[in-house]
Amino acid sequence: MHGYSFIVLAFAGMMGLITGSFINVCIYRLPRGESIMFPPSHCTECGKKIKIIDLFPVISYLLLKGRCRFCGERIGIRYPMVEIITGVLFIALLLRFDINFILLKYIVLTCILLTITFIDLEYYIIPDKAVLAGLAAGILLHYPAGDITVMSSLYGILSSTGFLLFVNLISPLVFKKEGMGMGDVKLSLVMGLYLGWPLSLLAIFVACCVGGLAGTALMLLKEKNAGEIIPFGPFLAAGSMVCFMWGRELINWYVTRFFT
Ligand SMILES: [Zn+2]
Repeated sequence: MHGYSFIVLAFAGMMGLITGSFINVCIYRLPRGESIMFPPSHCTECGKKIKIIDLFPVISYLLLKGRCRFCGERIGIRYPMVEIITGVLFIALLLRFDINFILLKYIVLTCILLTITFIDLEYYIIPDKAVLAGLAAGILLHYPAGDITVMSSLYGILSSTGFLLFVNLISPLVFKKEGMGMGDVKLSLVMGLYLGWPLSLLAIFVACCVGGLAGTALMLLKEKNAGEIIPFGPFLAAGSMVCFMWGRELINWYVTRFFT
């Protein structure tokens, strides 16, 4: 934990809100195969360009009461939600990592994971572009961040991607259905690269635990039927976040608790 003044934390939160509004653009456009740069933000209903003043995260949503200024079409609650989540995570990351390249690395990973989470929840896909962007940034930031070795990344990829690929290949034989999408397998490349061994595998373990619990809960609540698809990407994302924030502490606790 690092002590930061309110101003610094507020600035980090603001940067998070603004980044969150860009993540919203990616969530909308990536599954549609649209460019994330052009055209500038426009209403998805009437196509009118959004005024600069209405681009301000969360506040503009509240001022416009969640509707387009021109046609009155409802703007999804997902927009301010993603912005707020990103803002809060930026503050949490700053407190966890201090200002350095490690912080930058995990900010990038968090943005990729958020984009993938919300796309997977809505469309049941994990776009290759998001995975490729994650891999490219991860390779660029690997050396400057320097928190894990190249071998660690390599073992992370081999173990986690190997495991998910194995599940992907055997589940049609054992359960007579696809247990794990190829998108999840591709996402595990990113997890291995950023988290390394053993954290990326631990992240998959956490994802399976949380995913299993959530799946059971949804079935009990009759929200989902047995056999219905629940996207796994969001759980892999959540598992990754838990592990790069507290994975080492988790392992230390486990080892000292049970093996000393
Ligand atoms: Zn409109």
